[in-house]
Amino acid sequence: MERVRKPEWLKISIGANERYTETKRIVDSHCLHTICSSGRCPNMGECWGRGTARHQRDGKSGARGRRVDNAGRRHLQTHDPQEPTHVAESVRLMKLSHAVVTSVDRDDLPDLGAAHWARTIREIRRLNPDTTLEVLIPDFQGRRELVDQVIEARPDIIGHNMETVRRISPLVRSAARYDTSLDVIRQIADGGVTAKSGIMVGLGETTAEVEELMDDLRAAGCRLLTIGQYLQPSHRHYPVAEYVTPEQFKRYKETGLAKGFTQVESGPLVRSSYHAEKSLLHLKK
Ligand code: SF4
Repeated sequence: MERVRKPEWLKISIGANERYTETKRIVDSHCLHTICSSGRCPNMGECWGRGTARHQRDGKSGARGRRVDNAGRRHLQTHDPQEPTHVAESVRLMKLSHAVVTSVDRDDLPDLGAAHWARTIREIRRLNPDTTLEVLIPDFQGRRELVDQVIEARPDIIGHNMETVRRISPLVRSAARYDTSLDVIRQIADGGVTAKSGIMVGLGETTAEVEELMDDLRAAGCRLLTIGQYLQPSHRHYPVAEYVTPEQFKRYKETGLAKGFTQVESGPLVRSSYHAEKSLLHLKK
């Protein structure tokens, strides 16, 4: 497939500000690891400036069956029982107002990492009682008792990304099935925790398919949605079909809000943790 040229609207610089500079100094001096810096996220100036950052829990096996994201192949570590405390301390050192924690799939563990998730949430809570907390979890292969362990640890928001529309889902996320993901979202919402999801566009989906996905998410009880441009991490990954225009992202946001989402972040550079701290403000309204 012929490569699609990157448009101007995707080339931006990190807007430094006082809180960003101070957070960067802390991160560098303590050798802290965040997805924001390792993924060279262009939103760092904005997010760190608002006191939000994203950490990643360990990942030994890499992202299961996914051909659209290579985050799981970075910073591989062994399963460290001290890691919940390390992540919690990192949140404290960075003085975060809102922490987002993600993890790659841990298919190598009998509980797929669920107990470790629960420990991480509780440890962050213990060391950071004033920090709000959002976690982005895998589908735990649809095992409800494992999703329940995360729900019972009571983070403020639990996200599970649908990634893409139903038709394209089997092409880019062979193991995580569309309906399994919807069930996870429904379980989170039924469990009394705010459910969030995210998708990438630019994979060849149609507007009607995105709207159908929004309907599926709303029916499952999802309240928060992020929509961002898919960027091909390497030539081995699924190719970009299209760079969606900022105008189309704006239309997606309007459609999502009209369908009843409490918050929709939609834009070329939006990531699942972008403007995450705003979600709680929206929810309190
Ligand atoms: S969008 Fe997410 S990964 Fe990027 S800087 Fe913000 S919190 Fe970090």
